Amino acid sequence: MSKIKKINHVAILVENIEDALKFWRDSLGLELDHVEDVPSQASKVAFMPVGEGEVELVQPTQADSGLTKYLEKRGEGMHHLCLEVTDIVGKLQEMKEKGVQLINQEPIDLPGRRMAFIHPKSANGVLVELYEIIDEPV
Ligand code: ZN
Repeated sequence: MSKIKKINHVAILVENIEDALKFWRDSLGLELDHVEDVPSQASKVAFMPVGEGEVELVQPTQADSGLTKYLEKRGEGMHHLCLEVTDIVGKLQEMKEKGVQLINQEPIDLPGRRMAFIHPKSANGVLVELYEIIDEPV
């Protein structure tokens, strides 16, 4: 059975990562680990580790994407909460059986991880992301 391990990250939607770093890195003092292009999610992401988890700054990279529309409509701010699980396929299956509305029926493969989104309609207005971390051979 799938277990929830921890909060992997909290994602903040920003217009521009470089501008946002002026607060999150320079004023608040978080450490920037790296910035990664995530074409499958039409975004660029800045990873800032905090203890066991991370704060992520997410900047849309495609003009017509859902993320860009969301930003235009609602402005910058909290975008989603990501929980790390041990068996993402099992977790999605469990939730489908409980009638939870999912955005991704199957996990999407990304470097080092598999991910899926749960619809905010099923989660009190919060977009929830699930991660399963995959150990890659070194
Ligand atoms: Zn995320």
